[in-house]
Amino acid sequence: MIFDSIISRLKDIVSESEFQRYIKNIKYLENQSKSDLAVIEVVNPLIAGWIKTKYSDKLADLFELESGVRPKIEIRIKSKKGTKTRKKESISTDNKMAKSTILNPAYTFSSFVVGHSNQFAYTVAQSVCEQPGKLYNPLFIYGGVGLGKTHLLQSIGNSFSDKDKIVIYATIEQFLNDFTDHLRNQTMDRFREKYRSCDLLVIDDIQFISGKEDTQKEFFHTFNELHSAGKQIVLAADKEPRMIAGLEDRLKSRFVWGQVADIQPPELETKIAIIKKKCELDLINLSNDVIHYIATNMDENIREIEGTIIKLNAYSKMMGQQITLDFTKDVLKEQIKEKRENITIDQIVEVVSKELNVKPSEIKSKSRVKAIVNARRVVIYLARNLTPNSMPMIANYFNMKDHTAVSHAMKKINEIIHKDANFKVIIDQLANKISAHEQK
Ligand code: ADP
Ligand code: MG
Repeated sequence: MIFDSIISRLKDIVSESEFQRYIKNIKYLENQSKSDLAVIEVVNPLIAGWIKTKYSDKLADLFELESGVRPKIEIRIKSKKGTKTRKKESISTDNKMAKSTILNPAYTFSSFVVGHSNQFAYTVAQSVCEQPGKLYNPLFIYGGVGLGKTHLLQSIGNSFSDKDKIVIYATIEQFLNDFTDHLRNQTMDRFREKYRSCDLLVIDDIQFISGKEDTQKEFFHTFNELHSAGKQIVLAADKEPRMIAGLEDRLKSRFVWGQVADIQPPELETKIAIIKKKCELDLINLSNDVIHYIATNMDENIREIEGTIIKLNAYSKMMGQQITLDFTKDVLKEQIKEKRENITIDQIVEVVSKELNVKPSEIKSKSRVKAIVNARRVVIYLARNLTPNSMPMIANYFNMKDHTAVSHAMKKINEIIHKDANFKVIIDQLANKISAHEQK
């Protein structure tokens, strides 16, 4: 049957834990569906909201793949008595309130890997749960894309809701939509009541408030009321408050009243630990060399790294092959090639010069001083491994006669890596810095 194969395809593209939690028990109501309408039944509103926001596009894609027609997906909640469904609860009508407060149960403190780069943010996030509204109010977390801000925010949310506290988690866009809907329906009282009666208000991606004056005004009042009532506020953005353009000064100053904490790009060890954790949670088995290859070749965006792991797993199942290092290199070839095309030898020189304390001009010179020769060799080695440059191209960059000097440098570095495990770690850390560098 069509739906069975859709479910088995879904199984390949989502993680094991998501599958068990959300997908396994959904039912396809065949006699209520039409070719352009697929009716899905789930057991509770939480799962309904989750399927709707995360999987309805995927489901429609898969139906289209199987049957040639892309249906509208309708999600119904199973009624307590038997299988009759209550149409009223159908999520496709209106469920703004539930949508803004849905927390991903997988985002908890215990599934968050702590390293140097996120230690501070993690610690203050936990303190907020221990002493809500007192210690750090508001807590403002900022950092680049895919570094774990939403995960931390939702961990706080989950911790509060485990203690039966009322939590509102919304992106600033959801807050804005909610605001305009209530404004249009002249139900602003309800809007205010909703946002001001919670114990914890979490607003994600607050940078998008920039330039939106009405939202800023409304948010300002919400903020003040919650704050003066001692309710906890947690915010996240991609930059610190003073760097958000188009943000009213009175909000800027309030955002730094409590504690501002940044999340930095993960160092190599943290990246490796995160990959291991994801594998453990999703029951994916990766060998150390594969984990290492992913960690050093992918940049800092953990969402992308997760995507890569899922892709590897799906390909390996599809092709019935083990995830070996060669298999990994093959599957990620295009993705990594694209990245490499963005890395230049100049960038490598810059990072190596900083880390090994040698001037860029020295690296590019003909000097035979030992430390400089070593740094130059490291640059050559990394240029060969991280960029698409050929040996003659690298020789040309250093004004060398021909590529024999490049090949000699490669040989030397390979020898040292072989002999000295610490040196290998230094090289990997440099590669990691260069990959992260390229993103900016
Ligand atoms: P952001 O909101 O900063 O863009 P997210 O919180 O959405 O990033 O994180 C992207 C993905 O990476 C999520 O699936 C999250 O679980 C994962 N992730 C990020 N940092 C960590 C970490 N330190 N430990 C475990 N998973 C992490
Ligand atoms: Mg986020």
